[in-house]
Amino acid sequence: MSDRQEEELRAASLFAAVGLAESTAKEVAKTRKTREELVTVIEEAGASEGCSKAVGVHLYQISRKYPLNARDHRKAFMLDYVMSEKIKASNQLDGALEYLGRIGSDPVNRAELEEASGVGVEVTHDQLAAAVKEVIHAEAELLREDRYHAKLGPLQAGVKSQLKWADGAAVKAELEAQVAAFLGPKTEADMRPPDKKAKKKKAQERAAAAAASAAAAESAPATGVSSLANGPMPSANGNAAPSEASATTGTSTAEDASSSSPFTFLPAPEENNKVHTVVNFSDGRIMEIRNTADQLQKHLARTGRRVITRFPPEPNGYLHIGHAKAMFVSFGMAAESNGDCYLRFDDTNPEAEKLEYIEHIQDIVSWMGWKPYKITYSSDYFTELHQFAVQLIKAGCAYVDHQTADEIKQYREERRPSPWRERPTDESLRIFEEMRRGMTDEGQATLRMKQDVKNENYNMFDLIAYRVKFMPHPHAGTGWCIYPSYDFTHCLVDILEDVTHSLCTLEFESRRASYYWLLEVLDCYKPVVWEYARLNVTNNVLSKRKLNRLATGGIIRGWDDPRLLTLAGLRRRGVTAAAINSFCRELGITRTDSAVHLHKLDHHIRLDLDASSPRCLAVLRPLRVVLTNLPEDHHATYDAKVFPGRGEETYSVCLTRVVYIEATDFRDHDSKDYYGLAPGKSILLKYAGAITCQDFSVSDGQVTEVRATFTPIQEGAKPPKGVLNWVGQPAAGQEPLEFEARLYSELFKSLDPSDLGDAWMEDLNPTSETVIKGAYACTQLSKAQPGDRFQLERLGYFCVDSDSSSSNMVINRTCTLRESASSKAVSKK
Ligand code: ATP
Ligand code: MG
Repeated sequence: MSDRQEEELRAASLFAAVGLAESTAKEVAKTRKTREELVTVIEEAGASEGCSKAVGVHLYQISRKYPLNARDHRKAFMLDYVMSEKIKASNQLDGALEYLGRIGSDPVNRAELEEASGVGVEVTHDQLAAAVKEVIHAEAELLREDRYHAKLGPLQAGVKSQLKWADGAAVKAELEAQVAAFLGPKTEADMRPPDKKAKKKKAQERAAAAAASAAAAESAPATGVSSLANGPMPSANGNAAPSEASATTGTSTAEDASSSSPFTFLPAPEENNKVHTVVNFSDGRIMEIRNTADQLQKHLARTGRRVITRFPPEPNGYLHIGHAKAMFVSFGMAAESNGDCYLRFDDTNPEAEKLEYIEHIQDIVSWMGWKPYKITYSSDYFTELHQFAVQLIKAGCAYVDHQTADEIKQYREERRPSPWRERPTDESLRIFEEMRRGMTDEGQATLRMKQDVKNENYNMFDLIAYRVKFMPHPHAGTGWCIYPSYDFTHCLVDILEDVTHSLCTLEFESRRASYYWLLEVLDCYKPVVWEYARLNVTNNVLSKRKLNRLATGGIIRGWDDPRLLTLAGLRRRGVTAAAINSFCRELGITRTDSAVHLHKLDHHIRLDLDASSPRCLAVLRPLRVVLTNLPEDHHATYDAKVFPGRGEETYSVCLTRVVYIEATDFRDHDSKDYYGLAPGKSILLKYAGAITCQDFSVSDGQVTEVRATFTPIQEGAKPPKGVLNWVGQPAAGQEPLEFEARLYSELFKSLDPSDLGDAWMEDLNPTSETVIKGAYACTQLSKAQPGDRFQLERLGYFCVDSDSSSSNMVINRTCTLRESASSKAVSKK
């Protein structure tokens, strides 16, 4: 090997180490100039030992495009901005290089450079959604006309012109989701390739109309909505809360593992000395809630400055996708700050809790990939909570009340104090002790916090702290007959567990005042409380009460029915935890309540399954095809790709005289735009060869058998356009592996069944589950076990169901392939 060749090889392997594709690395190494430049750049950046692919691509761009006049700044720029990944996207790099070229050898003004390259600009999901909405609105006419054939590139550019630094992948995902929501499900016409002639004519008409309106507009001011190419659109509405502005980032997508933390806007534990909230009392008093220096000091000494969060499910049902968001927030924040997150069963109500739920929750939290720091129960702290209650009475901040539940309600509505509110402290202490010892009947007495009955905030009207309930507790046992309320328990257990960030959903916002009031009057440390929006998903329900009705009412297959958005249901359907978490990351932790479209979840499911699901040939509704030119005992095997286009791994499929194709892929009449099988027409049996239909038999109006001739794939010969999935017999005369397929669609017909009030059950979609028996698969599938996932080519992603037995394999469709991909398979190879 010559010296030059050796040098090329060395350089190519260095370039591969910084993440360049093998072919690019070789190409760049071939030419002396490009090779030496990139080697110098890599050395200067200190990346000779390798770096992430994203950084490597930037270094390569720098070696090609860095302005010569700013050479003096190159090293510092690479170290400060590229290696530290402050510059993430290629348009950011371009902005920076443009700025550097402009200043040449003048000193760098960091603020200007960062402005030119969008460093530190965070695009919230709300901003992105608003910008996309605006672009769709502006292009509504074109979308209605061209529907799914419309090119999304210009729309994407329109969004980018509003939000220059938004992440490209996030823009694309949001655009696809909103276009789908705007246009609704694809029609047959949407799935066919576009009619090129009609499209050309339409484009000409549009151009003529644009020219006419431009001429007319010469004398009138432009409206700004006419074309996306006309420059920046009005800026997206930016009314996100200040905290929210950094809560989500445009780069937080599943594809981008290097996306920045969505939690950086929350203060670190040692910064928890600002005012949390100000509680205004009806008599004019003001309570300013903040930690004293002493409280903060002691807290930090106990925790070693760790971030500590908690995920507090009530064990009264299975967890759902909304809880996945809650876990993403609390476990996620702890994980991103090297802190700890408790899994805390919020089990103060002994009535609804069940061991089944507790076991399930632990299992599913771990399936979602989260490791609790400790598993605790609110009921573990009943003794401490009782001591706090006594302390509260002694401080004159709680009293025993004898009003009935109805009286309490009425008095609260009238904002009148209970007649027992001013009773002496000793009396309350004595009766509270009697309550604890079981000497007071249920409903005879409650302990109430002495807050502010005339407060503007309903949740400051002397909330109940304890109730008498003669019922053993599933976790704490028989030791108690008084049970603390959620409002009394939650904040105090946060303190007992030294929680630094108590993150919850927005419906708790109005309880912030009472949360902090209790901690203030008991002289406790105050965590940071922050609320985020509950997740709602279209065409489904997430309330545990409703899920319980469906799951236990015999309406569906239980809590883990694949149509539910319970995590158990999603798991059974074949969805991975990774897909759910990347969906949550994309949603961000915004404070805007909205229903997320199911398409959004599907997008993440496909991304994840595409990479991990081995392919397999199968047909759901088999149509028998006899290949008349093959002998009875014909048996040939072909190599099918496990991951077509990626890697060489194969499995065998066998071709016999009788094969099966999808019944929907045959028509008795051919037409020009049809790529399936029809009399006289040829299609390709994927991986095997072409077949040409001769004739077919019909019985009772149904096509029962097709006869065709087989032609092996021949080098150089043009294959037919349509490529079909098919299944042969394992041996001549033997039927293929049979399975039951369960296909799913929306569980409810309307987007938000909760809108229908008590009639929500009437909205159930009667065709939400389609069971197909007698589907056929190639023998590859015979080894599959419950939980195994596949892509059945052209049919979708599937997962073996837990109902499977040795005699009946049941396979759930997790989701369809992107429709465009499945229609492509029929039309093109
Ligand atoms: P439900 O009203 O359905 O019974 P819940 O709020 O009572 O739900 P919990 O078990 O108490 O359910 O919830 C545990 C945590 O998960 C809480 O912090 C709660 O705020 C959060 N959570 C529940 N539902 C959602 C949701 N749809 N989106 C985001 N977080 C949620
Ligand atoms: Mg709850």
